[in-house]
Amino acid sequence: MKEIRVRFAPSPTGYLHVGGLRTALYNYLYAKKNNGKFILRIEDTDRNRYVEGAVENLTAALNWAGLDYNEGPDIGGNYGPYMQSQRLEIYKKHADELIAKGEAYYCFCSAERLQKLREEQEKQKLPQAKYDKHCLSLSKTEIEQNLKNNLPYVIRLNVKPNQKIIFDDIIRDRVEFDSNNVDDQVLIKSDGYPTYHLANVVDDHLMEISHVIRGEEWLSSTPKHVLLYDAFKWERPKFAHLPLLLNPDKSKLSKRQGDVAVEDYRDKGYLKEALINFVALLGWNAGDDKEFYYMNELIEKFSLDRVNKAGAVFDIQKLNWLNAEHLRKMHDDDILKLLKKEILNSQFSTLNLPDNYLFQIITAMKERVAFVKEFITTCQYFYTPTTEYEQKSVEKNWKPETPEHLRKLIDEFKLLDNPSKEDFEHAFGKTAEQLGIGKGKLIHPLRLAVSGQSTGPGMFDLLFILGKDEVIKRIEKAIEVLG
Ligand code: GLU
Repeated sequence: MKEIRVRFAPSPTGYLHVGGLRTALYNYLYAKKNNGKFILRIEDTDRNRYVEGAVENLTAALNWAGLDYNEGPDIGGNYGPYMQSQRLEIYKKHADELIAKGEAYYCFCSAERLQKLREEQEKQKLPQAKYDKHCLSLSKTEIEQNLKNNLPYVIRLNVKPNQKIIFDDIIRDRVEFDSNNVDDQVLIKSDGYPTYHLANVVDDHLMEISHVIRGEEWLSSTPKHVLLYDAFKWERPKFAHLPLLLNPDKSKLSKRQGDVAVEDYRDKGYLKEALINFVALLGWNAGDDKEFYYMNELIEKFSLDRVNKAGAVFDIQKLNWLNAEHLRKMHDDDILKLLKKEILNSQFSTLNLPDNYLFQIITAMKERVAFVKEFITTCQYFYTPTTEYEQKSVEKNWKPETPEHLRKLIDEFKLLDNPSKEDFEHAFGKTAEQLGIGKGKLIHPLRLAVSGQSTGPGMFDLLFILGKDEVIKRIEKAIEVLG
């Protein structure tokens, strides 16, 4: 059997779109599942759209997401170069081959003539503007003369009228186009660069791509590609066009409604495991209602047969939920590494907290946070003494007798020697009993005094993590401030 070789072929626009991540991921999963190769090819033949640093951004985002490719511009491979701008000779040679076969032709039409043609066709209300094959009838001598005179030209595909163009798509089954609706596509532009269509087909063939897995927006280009494969007498790859990504209102996923760059999600603190899990479900499911996946399970379960035709809605709530789930299931050692990075980027960057202390915060807060940075933002009291007290809780829980109750608690805590969580709990119970009050009367003011908040981790976890001296200091401070 032929080796499975798939590719992700982005144009370097400056960032990796989440839709691009989904395409890359499905290609990656398909390759991994079938012991195949996953190739990165940069389609940079549109010089007007060139963006400095775009390729580096792309490879960095793919590396961050863990989508390692077997061949690509920065790592090489047997089918390189993997940047289309370095393959111009190859495209030119293939375009010449098509001219020799009568499958393509030189077109010297001026921009003005093409414009006029378009306007006339618009007047006639034709469904789409098409080139009128004017230059197809040029004689050999005319063409040679024009070339000698250095007249600017493009090379066009000679699309035969009245043909059915049929191809199979793994997701959409049989797809049919009428060749009368296909323009005599430009293959080589006047600047000598190939168009997407020519470069894409030539490279997929020369790189021995077995499956072209890409977004639905390329479906309308596929008839042109199919004509090119046929013109070259090359075997077509198998095609799979992935469903569109939609906003919740079913419009096409756009920047206006939220972030679309993978880098934005990374910078906002989403875990790569969660983003991969989320993106995998945008158009695919394993046939059950399981939603939580690690990469290795996705590789095991993935199949193109289970990719949907219908557009997939990008639901940020679901991503947030998956982020919390992945964080919860993450090893504390791994969270620690991420948390340390977050601390370095926070107002607490100069604190040098021991790992042991951070591990305790992680254990106490793990069930209560959805993002690593929330190990800081939702519980700043672990990093700095409390100076502000939640007003609503003060009004509700801080009574005239509270200072006296808390002073009694301090006395009890002072007796403890290197207290454990249980020691704190015991001393607390004893104080409430001696004061003849319910535990609830004491616990809310105590939490307020040490954390400034009304919610948080278990009370005695909180006391234990802060430690006896710090707890006492904070209660004294609260009494002083709240009176
Ligand atoms: N260069 C195209 C893009 O930017 C690739 C489409 C394809 O995979 O054929 O997505």
